[in-house]
Amino acid sequence: MNTDDLLVKPRSRFLRVKCNDCNNEQIVFGNASTRVECSVCGRLLVEPTGGKANIKTQILEVLE
Ligand SMILES: [Zn+2]
Repeated sequence: MNTDDLLVKPRSRFLRVKCNDCNNEQIVFGNASTRVECSVCGRLLVEPTGGKANIKTQILEVLE
């Protein structure tokens, strides 16, 4: 039985965020490795910092 799969639970999950500037809501990947910008106004929403993404705006909901 392989228990590695249980121990190494991926932290990848999707987040529903709201742009602080234009209130646009969009779904972003919580583990994003690239910058994510607001699809409406272009504001930086997610900045990758090594393994974990740095969310630069309001998180409304974590989707598992
Ligand atoms: Zn925006």
